[in-house]
Amino acid sequence: MTAATIEIETVGGALASEVKTRSGASPMNCYQCAKCSSGCPVADRADLKPHEVVRLVQMDQREAVLASRFIWECTSCQTCTTRCPQKVDLAAMNDALRAMSLSAGRAVRGTAVPVFNEIFLKSVQKRGRVYEMGLMAAFKLRTMRLFEDAAKAPAMLLKGKLPLFGPRVRGQAERKAMFRRAAQGGDQ
Ligand code: SF4
Ligand code: SF4
Repeated sequence: MTAATIEIETVGGALASEVKTRSGASPMNCYQCAKCSSGCPVADRADLKPHEVVRLVQMDQREAVLASRFIWECTSCQTCTTRCPQKVDLAAMNDALRAMSLSAGRAVRGTAVPVFNEIFLKSVQKRGRVYEMGLMAAFKLRTMRLFEDAAKAPAMLLKGKLPLFGPRVRGQAERKAMFRRAAQGGDQ
């Protein structure tokens, strides 16, 4: 027997509509079973649980969602998306909420995730693959976490996990165009 989803996605406020447009996820389909939260690896350490975030989106609580720590703690593991009986793509929803949080200047203080994301994407855009050594140096300088995890560096160097020279993959023009399309909302 195939499971049917209950379609109530046409109802909802401005926040739910924007999230739907940006992510393709349908927050209004959520009926609050909390199955997403029961499998989420960060639900117990963040300020909100996945089903609570969806509920806040349904209730048009823009400030509470965009300023939450949860949207930055999400690891995009997609466990919630896989488990949801209503096919609410919470992982995609969180991606959209992060972008909205950044453009609204509401990213929670004390999280380094936006800095990491920015450096990671710049590295991919420039080189085609991430350059771990460059990423690590830039991240540490930007966040002033200079000696955090420093003890792991020798072992990583020995195992070849931190190559001194970065990769250069062809297709930089195509990558630039792809990033430009993504910045404009994609599909253009
Ligand atoms: S699993 Fe799906 S339907 Fe259930 S609370 Fe989470 S998002 Fe809502
Ligand atoms: S994708 Fe994010 S919200 Fe979903 S289970 Fe993983 S960490 Fe939790």
